[in-house]
Order: sequence, then C-alpha cells, then structure tokens
Amino acid sequence: MLISLSLQVISTVNGSPPRNSSAIASIDPHLYHTGDGLIQEVKELVGRHPERLTMETWKSRNKSYFAEILIVTFNHGGHENPDKYRILLSFGQHGRELITSEVALRLLGILCGEYVLPGVDPTSLNHALEKLVIKIVPMENLNGRKLVEAGDLCERRNGRGVDINRNWSVDWGKKEKDYDPYEENPGSAPFSEPEAQIMRKLSHSFRPHIWANVHSGMEALFMPYDHLNTTPKGIASQVMRSMLQHLNHLHCHDKCMVGSGGGSVGYLAHGTATDYMYDIVKVPMAFTFEIYGDLDASNKDCFRMFNPIDAFTYNQVLHDWCSAFISIFANTPHRIQGIIAGKGTKTGEMEPRNVHMDQDSKWEDRKALVLVDSGEWLDLARQELRTYVKFFAISSALLIFFFCFRMSKGKAESQLRKMSTTGI
Ligand SMILES: [Zn+2]
Repeated sequence: MLISLSLQVISTVNGSPPRNSSAIASIDPHLYHTGDGLIQEVKELVGRHPERLTMETWKSRNKSYFAEILIVTFNHGGHENPDKYRILLSFGQHGRELITSEVALRLLGILCGEYVLPGVDPTSLNHALEKLVIKIVPMENLNGRKLVEAGDLCERRNGRGVDINRNWSVDWGKKEKDYDPYEENPGSAPFSEPEAQIMRKLSHSFRPHIWANVHSGMEALFMPYDHLNTTPKGIASQVMRSMLQHLNHLHCHDKCMVGSGGGSVGYLAHGTATDYMYDIVKVPMAFTFEIYGDLDASNKDCFRMFNPIDAFTYNQVLHDWCSAFISIFANTPHRIQGIIAGKGTKTGEMEPRNVHMDQDSKWEDRKALVLVDSGEWLDLARQELRTYVKFFAISSALLIFFFCFRMSKGKAESQLRKMSTTGI
C-alpha cells in the first residue's frame, strides 16, 4: 500500500499518469467510443466533408454468419486518377484492440482538416495528400468488437470465434506447438470468414501501393513475412525496412521492434493479411503496426494489455501514430518511385512540415495487374488442390472401409455355408 502510494506521488510529479495496477481495467467510456458510436462518428465526419471523403459499406455472409465493413475513401478533389498512389489502412481487426480504431477516427479528422496535428503545416500536408487516394477501414471486426463491449475483454476473434488475421490463404492453417484456438482459430478454410472475404475483395479491386494492418499489444513495426522468420529479398524489402527505421526513430521513440513479423515477435503466424498482401496482391510495401502494449499487465487484464487506460497515454498514442501515418503519406511517392526504379530511396526521408515531392513517375499498371492476376490464380489453384487432396483422402478411406467390410462379410458367409454343409 505504501509502495503504491509513493509511486503514485512520484509519477504525478513527473507528469505521467498515476496507475492502479491491482484492479482489472475496464473500458473507460470517457476515452473510448463504442463500436457503433465510432462508426456513427465516422459517418458524420464523411457527411461534413463530401469533397474529400466518401464511404461505402461492404457486406458478406457465410451461411448464417454475416459481417459488414465500412470503408472510407480520402480522395481530395474526388477525381479518378490512375497516377495517384494508393494506400489501404485497416484498424480494429482484433476486437480487443480498441485504441487502433480511435487512431483511425483521429486520422480521418486530420485528413479532412477538422483536427490539426501540432507541428504540421496544413498547406504542405494538403499538397502531399493531393497525390494520394487513401482507403481507411476504421473497424474491420465490428462483430468481435461487440463481444468485447459485452464484457469479453480478451476476445480478439470475429463474431463466431475465428481469428480474421489467420484466415488468409498464405500458409493457412499451419499450427505451431503453442497453438491456442482461443487466440488463433484460422477458420474452416482460407477466406471462410466474411470479414476476410471483404478485405480480400477490397485489396484486389484497389491494388494498394501501401498496406498497413494496425494492431495493439506491443510496440512494433513489422514487414513481411509473418509465417517465416525472414524478410523478403530485393529493393522493396530495403525500402520497407528503411521506412520502418525512420518511423521508429521519429514516432516510436526508438522503442518499436523492427523487422519481419515472424522473425521479431518470437512466434510464426500463418494465414495473415500482410503476408497475403505482399505475396498475392503484390503490394510493394506491406506492414503490420503494433501501436501500443502494456507488457507488464497481467494476462487476465486484457483491456490494459492492449489499450491505454489514462487520457495522457491515450492522447500520446493518437498523436504519435497519426504523425507516423502523415509521415508515410508525405513520403509515399518517392518511396514507390524508388521501388519501381529499382534503386531505393536516395533522397532521404521527408517530414510533412517540410514536404517536397519528386516528380511522379507512372505506376506500372499493366505489369502490376499481370502479377496480381497470376498470384491470384496460383492462390486459387493451391486452394483447389488442397480440396482435391482432402476429397481423395476421404474417398480412399471409404473405399478401404467398404473393401474390408465386404471381405469380412464374405468370410463369415463361407463359414456359415461350411457349417451348414458339415451339420455343426
Ligand atoms: Zn491484433
């Protein structure tokens, strides 16, 4: 008691929030929106800025399970322009990671000019944003989020117990020794889940240059691969790593782990969205960001593990990660050009307050399309093959069973015949 009281006094003096580590934290309604409330607020924001933001709701169903996802598009001027760089960001893929959707809402507020990020010049920012189309999914897993709000603060899966970030087809279904279905249930087949189906369709139709899947639970900046403990080879990999190191230094206070998901986090993850985006959709730069985690929290105290529980830290996380995204936006054209030209980024990193863009070069649409199509074809072929192998195995087992059954029946009949002929 005395120790905790002293700690409270010290931390208050230092400006950090006091902390009661003994109680299990619950969702603070003064800090966090409800899932429905946040979606409603996003819709109202879009309604106030039709010249910058549009939205659509995509729906999908598998048998009796239904899901829908709100997708917001930022496109200043609203013109269809194939030369613009495309960025796709997803938040709230895991139900318990509420803070990620709060970042999405704040980021949308910045994009439409309702919220000004301290230190960022709005004119420079607008100039940078003119070259981009940004699609934001503020809450990928609304059904799972509702379970969390109903009291299951540790739930990360969707509304029927499947982890949407294990339901994609790259290395789907492989289970590590410490596999825990409560955490990582991959579903009955790749893309069995409506949420993953919607995101897959969105990724193929939008074909982003940058993908970021935003999570919480730790502080990390991951690039592919999640299912291997290595990073890909080549120029795109170098550009990705350089971007992550830059973000770590400027926006994560050098605290973030940087590297491949599989190589850095201590376990391999199979069937993830980011590996699919990189391997199949051929997104040149694909990431998973882990934006906050309290590693000292008890594993029963899930809300505290995955979300800031005081206003100071909550606002700090929103500020740091919105700044990181603005930095990504400002640097997208020259990074993608570097990858296309095959020579990386030699002009150095740029911050939004001092935005300077190189002359855009056209994205190789046709080449990318061919790559996407062949990747998708291979992916589907793999799935088909898996189905046929399963079917073949089941048919063989049934044939063997019937064969054995007939053999034993035949034997019994001949025994009976023998018995009746010998009179026993
Ligand atoms: Zn997560």
